Amino acid sequence: MTRQSRSLVLLAIIAAALGSSCQTSKSKLTYLPPAKTFETPEQLFYSVGLNQDFIPRGTAGRWKFRPMKPRYITIHSTQNYSHGADAMRHSLALKRGALKGNNSLGYLTWHFTVDDHRTVQHLPTSERGEHADFDGPGNLYSIGIEMCEHEGHNRGVTIDRSARLAATLMHAYDIPLANVVPHYHWPRYQYSTPHKNCPHYLMDDGKPGATWKDYLKRVDFYYDQVKHQRLAGPVFPTRPGNVARLDRDNLPPQG
Ligand SMILES: [Zn+2]
Repeated sequence: MTRQSRSLVLLAIIAAALGSSCQTSKSKLTYLPPAKTFETPEQLFYSVGLNQDFIPRGTAGRWKFRPMKPRYITIHSTQNYSHGADAMRHSLALKRGALKGNNSLGYLTWHFTVDDHRTVQHLPTSERGEHADFDGPGNLYSIGIEMCEHEGHNRGVTIDRSARLAATLMHAYDIPLANVVPHYHWPRYQYSTPHKNCPHYLMDDGKPGATWKDYLKRVDFYYDQVKHQRLAGPVFPTRPGNVARLDRDNLPPQG
């Protein structure tokens, strides 16, 4: 083979490889509603529809106080397909201590649940949850967001709302886009398949691919609109004339 024909063969191989990788990496996110635009961080914050419904301090998955400084945002889906398993229903389950976990806390907990109508906060962002990787960095340093997937709900709207919430939290805690990760990102060495296929509908063949990249694009689109505008202090507007803290449960300190 001459040098010229060798390089032609090489080019053909590269072209074939590129072609096949394009074929296998097609985003599944074709069903999202059109992205919205926001003038201010306040408007973006209002749009997530935040309801705070904290697990009472000292009970259930908050029986132990475990402080956290958030550095990552972890995205999950509930895989709870039961009728009516929306964000409020998950909040009730967390408050009742119904979600037991085989971990050092004894419960599963996370910070936010998102559905197609609202966002519910269960844990202050200054406390660690149990949603990712036992005592690994996913639980030690990340805010956990669960997306509902019960029967009849609008998945596209839920995904879009979770993207707005992630952008809000990036803004609030100076978290870079690279630190917005799927549950898949955090290995659980206790299991034979350490990387969980979660959130399953944002993974391609069980791992992050074109669909996850597309989701991050949506998050970044929202973050980009507000990133240069700062809010005063750790007080977050939830609707016009109303503010809340995400890092405290807004209750008087215990004796
Ligand atoms: Zn998960």
